[in-house]
Amino acid sequence: MSTQTLNQSSLFISLEDQYGAHNYHPLPVVLTKGEGVYLWDVEGRRYYDFLSAYSAVNQGHCHPRIVRALVDQASQLTLTSRAFYNDKLGPFEKYITSYFDYDKALLANSGVEAVETAIKLCRKWAYVKKGLSDQAAKIVFVSGNFHGRTLGVISASTDPSSTGGFGPYMPGYIIVPYNDKQAIADAFEDSNVAGVLVEPIQGEAGVVVPDADYLPFIQSLCREKNILFIADEVQTGIARTGKLLATCGNCTCKGFCENKPEIKPDILILGKALSGGVLPVSAVLADDEIMLCIKPGEHGSTFGGNPLACAVAMAALEVVREERLDANAERLGKIFRERMQHVVDKYPIALLVRGKGLLNAIVVDDDEEGHLAWDICMSLAAKGLLAKPTHGNIIRFAPPLVMTEDQLHECCDIIEEVIAGFNRLS
Ligand code: PLP
Repeated sequence: MSTQTLNQSSLFISLEDQYGAHNYHPLPVVLTKGEGVYLWDVEGRRYYDFLSAYSAVNQGHCHPRIVRALVDQASQLTLTSRAFYNDKLGPFEKYITSYFDYDKALLANSGVEAVETAIKLCRKWAYVKKGLSDQAAKIVFVSGNFHGRTLGVISASTDPSSTGGFGPYMPGYIIVPYNDKQAIADAFEDSNVAGVLVEPIQGEAGVVVPDADYLPFIQSLCREKNILFIADEVQTGIARTGKLLATCGNCTCKGFCENKPEIKPDILILGKALSGGVLPVSAVLADDEIMLCIKPGEHGSTFGGNPLACAVAMAALEVVREERLDANAERLGKIFRERMQHVVDKYPIALLVRGKGLLNAIVVDDDEEGHLAWDICMSLAAKGLLAKPTHGNIIRFAPPLVMTEDQLHECCDIIEEVIAGFNRLS
């Protein structure tokens, strides 16, 4: 690296350091351009993106069709607020509800905003339909969850770095161990339980996949006890795990088909890849019985459902369907885990690989601080592949779903080479 090169990057890093809040710990790579599975830094170095902005860029960076929708709509109309109708929201609501098979959609912006919306919707349903007394409703969450950063949401978190110093927390939650059916059954004994909110695969916790019968068990107990099953598919949804939704995991339809999936959440939460990473667009989907519990004036946001977001999200969902990104994620995911299993078998510092579709993680033999995982990611970056540790000794690997098999093999070669190098040092 030349001195000029170093200066370029360090200038941008020092600007963020000096003028930005210190609420992140990024890898020291300064990015300026993205296309498909690639990112470029300010020195012109090219990288494979193996984070995809935490699974927001499933369709690949700057997908031409999504960008065209953005530009076309941006020069026509961007924001009206919901004080008026616009000619993009209705058609998009029709499209997204038929795409995911729900009666109604409520559009928001960030993922956490959609989670908050789902919590409010569940509480409202509990009072209006289930007949719980005012203020009594409880929602069950599971340990290790990550649903975002607002106060209402971190109040359900078991991660001290999310909660520490931010109390007091919101009441009305029961937190039980993840992947523990008995714990769910015990919690559901409380007659004030209105809903249960889970990630079908815990992304931030380190791509933790529950037992195959866990979600079906929750769903059937929910039906039995008149409790809402709420799935946060902000990270797992929209083809990331090899199916249109991770909750389709037990379904044989492989995504886009006419069959109803075996598992169907009462409330589905989507975000991130809903816009292909182009704009913050999120959504809550539910049937009329639930969604119509919220009346005009009771919930909303200035930007939620704006015409620009609708045009972009429509294009982003079309891309997923037309390019069959679910099938590509499923196929490449199998190859990735096979290749990484070989790495795990060969190099003791790699303890295990797990995941579904193209949402995967490798656990390395490291302390809780994750120094080795960090050093591995630095070394991967030096070889042209960007990934980030999540929770200490776990490295998440989640490339855009438009990757080709050749590109994936090239990336697996890089990962293997880096892990082999650290293995020799240990
Ligand atoms: N839910 C899940 C499962 C997530 O992974 C995230 C973000 O990583 C969120 C919610 C919050 O999304 P956002 O950061 O857009 O608020």
